[in-house]
Amino acid sequence: MDYVKTAIPRQERLFYGADYNPDQWQACPDVLERDIELMKEAGVTSASVGIFSWTSLEPEEGIYEFAWLDRVMDRFAEAGMFVFLATPSGSKPMWLSEKYPEVRRVDKAGKREPSGWRHNHCLSSPVYREKARAINTRLAQRYQKHPALALWHVSNEYSGECHCQSCRAAFQAWLKERYGTLDALNEAWWSAFWNHTFTDWSQIQTNDLSMDGLQLDWLRFVNDQHVSFMREEMVPLRELTPDIPCTTNFMGTHEGTNYWQWAEHVDQIANDLYPLPDDRANTWQHAIRADFIHSLMRGMSGGKPWMLLECSPSSVNWGGINKLKRPGAHRQEVLQAVANGASTVHYFQWRKGRGGFEKYHGAVVDHDGSNRTRVFQDCAAIGAELASLRSLVQGDCPVAEVAMIYDWESRWALNTSCGPKELAGTGPFPSDLYTETCFDHYEALTRCGIAVDLLSTRSDFSGYKVLVLPALYLLSEELGERIRAFVQSGGQVVATCLTAYVESSNKCYLGGFPGASLRAVFGIWNEELDNLPADTRVEVRGAVEGSAKDVVERIHLDGAVSLAQAGSEFYAGEALITENDYGNGVASYLAARFEMPALLAFYRRLLEKASLCRSIDLDLPEGVVFRCRDSSEGRVGFLFNYSNQSREVEFGKLAMAAYLDPQTTYSGTIELAPYESRILRV
Ligand SMILES: [Zn+2]
Repeated sequence: MDYVKTAIPRQERLFYGADYNPDQWQACPDVLERDIELMKEAGVTSASVGIFSWTSLEPEEGIYEFAWLDRVMDRFAEAGMFVFLATPSGSKPMWLSEKYPEVRRVDKAGKREPSGWRHNHCLSSPVYREKARAINTRLAQRYQKHPALALWHVSNEYSGECHCQSCRAAFQAWLKERYGTLDALNEAWWSAFWNHTFTDWSQIQTNDLSMDGLQLDWLRFVNDQHVSFMREEMVPLRELTPDIPCTTNFMGTHEGTNYWQWAEHVDQIANDLYPLPDDRANTWQHAIRADFIHSLMRGMSGGKPWMLLECSPSSVNWGGINKLKRPGAHRQEVLQAVANGASTVHYFQWRKGRGGFEKYHGAVVDHDGSNRTRVFQDCAAIGAELASLRSLVQGDCPVAEVAMIYDWESRWALNTSCGPKELAGTGPFPSDLYTETCFDHYEALTRCGIAVDLLSTRSDFSGYKVLVLPALYLLSEELGERIRAFVQSGGQVVATCLTAYVESSNKCYLGGFPGASLRAVFGIWNEELDNLPADTRVEVRGAVEGSAKDVVERIHLDGAVSLAQAGSEFYAGEALITENDYGNGVASYLAARFEMPALLAFYRRLLEKASLCRSIDLDLPEGVVFRCRDSSEGRVGFLFNYSNQSREVEFGKLAMAAYLDPQTTYSGTIELAPYESRILRV
């Protein structure tokens, strides 16, 4: 699968801007005038406009009002700035919601939601689809030749599910398409369990927690409904403005959305990310998780530049404890995205509104309304800096030697299977055992100085030296064959506990795990899974030492050699890390969730064995990460201290010039302040 995206036409520099809600300020023309002046001062190039402005655009059914938006578009064009024009389907007008109650979602208990909130329209409703198409068509007709229009921002953070009768019927039709016959469906879902054998399609419900096959297909269906809705929204946009790219804003590792599928249907990959640096001792680990999500977006863009379409220049308002960003953290978040391939950085939001749920959410312009605030001054400095990084705009990040698969299907299958341990919330990112395991391995590789490309199960990984498969729980025979061929021809694969338990319908493989014909590749048989309480650790002894937590498998050697063994519990002495020579390659199996010291020891060993190159040939202290990206003026390096403590980096004999000031050279010992970021010529 080729995810490669092309550049945004007319983008000649890094885009910098924010979500802008002029529809909320129509009674304050002086504020709207002032906004343009402040935007120029902050180095803004672009803004996302109209995301929640359906009522302002269509105050009554079929009655359209575009004068206010005409003025906004014209002002942007006059100022040499671009508009990412939104389609407004993310929240429903009251007239629509009340006149057509079927557009409102029904929850799992069967209760229809009242009007209000947002992101809560029924995905199947023909009326909502028709109304969205009508307003989108009007927008495209009106602004198709407008010089400010650079991009379509289609809806906003699509998410959630609806259990109305229309959605239930659509689910049944989707299943009929997928399985053909009820016999095939009953077989796939193991329906004889608890008398679930269906004798009529109409019997199938949307919510039955006892049926893991149904649950998995429901998640797939809801995802497909979202993609279908998004694609339908794009039809008039693509017809009327074929040269204007369409995107929608993703939410990183959001559970209900398999963005690999969405990536196939958008022209640009765009993401929203709010890392919430809380200035604690482990804040730097959260920064590495943000780095993971940026890499995921780069993967979905086929390695090409992508867009950070929302982040906060200050605190958010929904995080429980909404701590202000400490000095340096805001600039670091922006540069971290750029270092990982972003060619657009937009904030939510440009100006704080006076009321509503988000009135205290961070914004470039505070209620004070002036340019004198700390946040505005920070934003203006970052705007100027991004302008000076113009050479990066079409630059790619170097292709890594290590690839990791991140797979929503495995996550869904594991989360809908009752048994494997559930983890307590570990925010700020939505997470679970599957995603936490991916984060762990990404963090260990990052701390070893190794760059990682994130791929889908459909991506071509044959060119990589190492392929990492954290908890790839759902694994098809077809993918199993590609993994086998990869190792056969000399690749090194690393798999972990919970690998290849189930096939595509969430049914367990027979004959011993891992399934998908991978037992021979790894040379092991995985017999049992032990779930550990939160305060229990299992010792790890051997070539890798440390401890395991949460889940431990009892595996048997069947050709592989044991590198490390359990040092406690009744299975002390049994293998926990194995290695198997297969064909010209090597397959490693990590039969537990390891704590970081053991994972680091494992990957340091792998680094040497597979002759992997570090991103920079330096031993970086804890919390310091180096990234690089190509530009039209050569390779650019980014050195980040993600920690809230100062850190010393020993450059030794290495000497690198500051990117924006080539007269300044870094060598010897460099001290990085808390959250400091430096940009270097590599
Ligand atoms: Zn519905």
